[in-house]
Amino acid sequence: MELPESYSERTFCPHCGEHLNLNRLNIYGVSKCPVCESLLAVSRLYRVVTWLLTIGASLLLASVFRVKAYAAVAWIPLLLTSAVLITIFAKAWFPPKVGLVPMDAAGKRTEPWLRNLSLLLMFWFGQTFFLVAYSFIAGSAYLLGGTQGDIRELCEFFSLPLAWVNSRFEISPTISLPALFGIVFANSFFYAVTYTALTRIVQSRLRKPFTKLGISATQPDDDDDCI
Ligand SMILES: [Zn+2]
Repeated sequence: MELPESYSERTFCPHCGEHLNLNRLNIYGVSKCPVCESLLAVSRLYRVVTWLLTIGASLLLASVFRVKAYAAVAWIPLLLTSAVLITIFAKAWFPPKVGLVPMDAAGKRTEPWLRNLSLLLMFWFGQTFFLVAYSFIAGSAYLLGGTQGDIRELCEFFSLPLAWVNSRFEISPTISLPALFGIVFANSFFYAVTYTALTRIVQSRLRKPFTKLGISATQPDDDDDCI
């Protein structure tokens, strides 16, 4: 089935000026201009905001449908529905501007603070999604009649470290799915900070000998130039 064509003044190819069919524009990936075949992508900010709105909408639906933590797997269809709806609304209400995909993106240097921030966010969101995915299995174990001890152990594992500070962060199979998300997300921040710090320490340790080698290797060349 062919999607209807939809255009906006804002969305055009920066290379040839061709207006792009919004329904064929891929927000999360690379699109090709139908005329000059330039590779095009929306800004990272637009992508991140759309993605966060999608997560927000899926959690809103989860609370409307009163999805509990043990039925966390029901979040998948809610997420897919939200992704489709939010993408349609985002393109209709805030048509994105597109830019050319730089060919040398891989070789581009990023600021150290930006590298640390992306590393932290990657670990943070990564761990949240890993734990939520894990709760799909844990939820099924609960529904299939896991032992009380197993379930308590698992809930404890999901609740730390914040449950040490405040008992409101304790997870049980019957709390709502958005609450499960909130607690897992908040807890994952502490793990992410630790992982980021460890990664940076390991990286800086690995880098030091290479820098020294680099300096001593260039010196003889410089002398040769002088002669
Ligand atoms: Zn073009």
